[in-house]
Amino acid sequence: MEESREKFTLETPQVGIIRGVAARDIEVVGGKSVNLRASARPYRNVYTAAQLRAIKSVVEKYGSGKVHLTPRHNLEIPEVGQKNIDRALKELYGAGLFPGGAGSSVRNIFTCPDWCSKAVRPVQEIGTMVSRNFGDMDMPNKVTISFAGCSNACSRPQNSDIGIIAVGKVAASEEGCPEDCASCLSVCRFGAIRKLDGRIMLNEKCVDCCKCAQACAHGGLGIAGTGFRVLIGGKEGTSVRFGVKYADFVEDDFEILEIVDRVLNCYREKARLRDGSTRKKERLAEVMGRLGIAAFM
Ligand code: SF4
Ligand code: SF4
Ligand code: SF4
Repeated sequence: MEESREKFTLETPQVGIIRGVAARDIEVVGGKSVNLRASARPYRNVYTAAQLRAIKSVVEKYGSGKVHLTPRHNLEIPEVGQKNIDRALKELYGAGLFPGGAGSSVRNIFTCPDWCSKAVRPVQEIGTMVSRNFGDMDMPNKVTISFAGCSNACSRPQNSDIGIIAVGKVAASEEGCPEDCASCLSVCRFGAIRKLDGRIMLNEKCVDCCKCAQACAHGGLGIAGTGFRVLIGGKEGTSVRFGVKYADFVEDDFEILEIVDRVLNCYREKARLRDGSTRKKERLAEVMGRLGIAAFM
C-alpha cells in the first residue's frame, strides 16, 4: 500500500473534459487529486460480486488502493490521476458502473435489501422504478429519496427529501387467539394493542408497523395489506429536519411514482436562491419551511 502511494503522481485535472461525465461527478480535492464517484444504473445500493471485482481492479490499478462507501452507498474511488481517468471509467462502464451521485441532482436511491427478515413490503423494485424515472435528474439542490422496508427505517427516510416507508394493516384472527401468550403485546411501543377475552384489539394509536403481527408465531395476527407512508421535506446536514407526512397509506407503486414526480416538480418550480447566496438554491425542506406544505404542493 505504502509503495503504491509513493508511486502515485497527482496531476491537475481538467474537470469537464471527459466525454459523458458531468463535471459535478469528478471531485477535485486540494487542486490536485480526483475523486471518482460511481454507482450502478439505474441507481441502487446493491452491487454484484462482478462489480466489486471491477472496483477492486480499478482502485488497485488507477487509484491508491482505497474505496469509500458513501452514506448513500455510492462507491467513491479517491486519488485517481487524470491520465488514468479514461481507462478507469472504461473498466467501470464494462461492469455497469457509472459516475454520478453528486451535485444538484437526484442522488442515489437508497433502498433496504428485500431479504431483510423485518421487511413488511419489498422496496428494491419500486426503488429501481423511481431511479429509472428520476435518478440523476437535475434539481435546484441535491434531492435524496429513500425507501425503507419497514418502520425501523434503517435507510433514514425521515431525514430524506422524500422518504417512503413500507407499512401494513394488521388484522386479528376472527377466531381469537390460538395461544394464551402475549408476544404481540410486548413489542408494541405505541400502546395500540390489547387483549380482551382472548381477542386482540388494535386502537387508533396504531402506526401500521406490523411488529405485533411479525411477533405472533401462532396465526393470531396477520398482515391484511401493505402500502407506503410518504414523508417529504426531511434533510440531514448542518440543519436537520424531519419530513412531514404527505401520504399515509399508498398501496399502488405507480401512485408512488406520481407522488415523486409531483413533489419534484413543485420543488423545481418553487425553489429560489438561498438568502444571501448568488449561487446556492434552497433544499426542498427550506422551500417547505418558507411556504408551508399546503402552498408548497
Ligand atoms: S428498515 Fe426494516 S426492512 Fe429495512 S433494513 Fe431496516 S429492519 Fe430491514
Ligand atoms: S402494528 Fe405496530 S403500532 Fe400497530 S398495534 Fe401492531 S405493533 Fe402496535
Ligand atoms: S395474537 Fe398471537 S402473539 Fe398475540 S396473544 Fe394472540 S397468539 Fe399470542
